[in-house]
Amino acid sequence: MPGDPRTRPDMTEPHSLTMLTPGSTPRTADDLDVMTMPADALALRGAYLHVPFCFHKCHYCDFYSIVDNRDRQDAFVDRMTIELDAAADRFTRPLESIFVGGGTPTLLPPERWRRLFEAIHRALPRDDRTEFSIEANPETVTDDLARTLAAGGVNRASIGAQSFDPRHLKTLERWHDPDNVGRSVRILRDAGITNVNIDLIFAIPGQTLAEWQFELDAALALDPTHLSCYGLTYEPNTAMTARLRAGRFEPASEDLEAAMYEMTLDRLADAGFEQYEISNWARPGRTCRHNLLYWRNEHWWPFGPAAAGHVAGRRWRNVPRLGDYLDVGPLPPITDVEHLDRRGRVGEQLMLGFRLREGIAESSLHEWLADAPDRRATVDGALRDGLLERHDGAVRFTRRGMLVADSVLSDLV
Ligand code: SF4
Repeated sequence: MPGDPRTRPDMTEPHSLTMLTPGSTPRTADDLDVMTMPADALALRGAYLHVPFCFHKCHYCDFYSIVDNRDRQDAFVDRMTIELDAAADRFTRPLESIFVGGGTPTLLPPERWRRLFEAIHRALPRDDRTEFSIEANPETVTDDLARTLAAGGVNRASIGAQSFDPRHLKTLERWHDPDNVGRSVRILRDAGITNVNIDLIFAIPGQTLAEWQFELDAALALDPTHLSCYGLTYEPNTAMTARLRAGRFEPASEDLEAAMYEMTLDRLADAGFEQYEISNWARPGRTCRHNLLYWRNEHWWPFGPAAAGHVAGRRWRNVPRLGDYLDVGPLPPITDVEHLDRRGRVGEQLMLGFRLREGIAESSLHEWLADAPDRRATVDGALRDGLLERHDGAVRFTRRGMLVADSVLSDLV
């Protein structure tokens, strides 16, 4: 189904990739060849910073997060400061985007944010066009924190609402009061952060179509500039999946999930939102630049445990353990290092580019598929079946195609 949260930009995983010299994985980012390339050649457009702390583990979540550990937050801020300083010479031009995700970045109190901002400002060049986003949990946004974030240059917030119905939040084991979503939006706006996204999840077990409409309307009533709507997925090793396997609830049917997705397309279009990606909608001019940077396969540098980066055709991930992250430096230990061959690169471009409503330019597609008859056949078949269409010099999913996008993309790569 559309909207797999694993395709959230900060978590985008490479698919069908070739390992870089198997068996000789570099130990830290210091060992990567991108450290010896001229910084200008890296063309870095973004930075992703991962703050791993949460006050509770939501049952559907497989993102790297650790519960509480407030006593390690100072050490984390010190460590990320060192990491930022160590990579600073890789950044030569103002960034299009800085994105702080998690975890729950807003769990760090204002005084720790003030320290972290000093390092961010030293290392990451910005100008007045830079989008500086932070993920916010509705339970953790305070006046003081919002003012601190705004003073630190944050100009966009992404609020993890997921649902406005306490029953559905309970099903997800997500701990926040739905009223705090609106309260957070107001606090952020009052502090000057007016570019606000709201994240919603649909196809929660027990959720009806009418209830999903209520969720959309509740989000729209807060007048966000951007909405991300993802269908619930059951990731391995999550408590939600364990409960599903134990027969503790019935998942939403595929038909219901498709109906919810179609309702989203219609309701958000009526409300004046433009869909620019399978699961993302924005007011005109308010697309998330960080999202686009990922889906256009641009280059960004990762900071913090479990953060993944993509620079000069190399992908890597910082180790997903706070202890290891804290202990090794100045750049952190890394894992999952990959350097794509042509087929891997093209597969990734297809996977990412088709998620965008602008689609993939026909000229690029022609070039990418020239030596891949299997992929050409898949694209031609999807065009014949009405799942893909030609539009404005590009090829993109049709409305019907978006309902089965994941399966078409998986056939492609
Ligand atoms: S708050 Fe976000 S990162 Fe933390 S456990 Fe819940 S879904 Fe995962």
